[in-house]
Amino acid sequence: MTMSPQPSIPWFDEFIGVAYRYFDLRMNVVPLFTDQNESLSLWRDVIHWWPDPSIKIRFVEAGDNYWFILNSDSQKPDAAISMCKLLTKSEHYERFKRGHGGEAYLRFGVYSKKTMENSKKDTLCDCGHEAADHDENDDDVCLYNTCDCKKFASFQVNLLKRKKTITDIKFLDEENITDDALAWNCLNTNKYSKAG
Ligand SMILES: [Zn+2]
Ligand SMILES: [Zn+2]
Repeated sequence: MTMSPQPSIPWFDEFIGVAYRYFDLRMNVVPLFTDQNESLSLWRDVIHWWPDPSIKIRFVEAGDNYWFILNSDSQKPDAAISMCKLLTKSEHYERFKRGHGGEAYLRFGVYSKKTMENSKKDTLCDCGHEAADHDENDDDVCLYNTCDCKKFASFQVNLLKRKKTITDIKFLDEENITDDALAWNCLNTNKYSKAG
């Protein structure tokens, strides 16, 4: 079988990652943005025009990483983009892989960093300890003796309301994507072309 790349597909990678959350009935796949207005306009101009049954997600695994690929047919030419980005596997990713059951909601999320000042006392730091366990005066260091956290850092994800239902979900291995046009095109354009 031969497949030619489709250079006409614009590949979009201006999102910072993907969160996986249980919310409502299905698991949620949540591409993350730092700017709420950007994410809202991308949804309005692109995702809104995607018919739910034609939305595809591919997860192409490559060691500790995976390619996240999202695409759909669209009648509207401006909405014909594909999202494609190499991300690091996480516990949440593995949980989604095991638990999605063939369906997921797609929604966007806005990621924001939190400091000691705008966090509640029980907000968890990236080190795993609460804000209250960090020194308010001395550079926010964690007060646990066994912890080497030097500065409180946390984040928050706000899920946007709009959602689409995805039923075409596939997990693939990097070595084994020639039968999947979308995965093949993503890697061909975003990986192999840059590697040379
Ligand atoms: Zn900490
Ligand atoms: Zn700590």
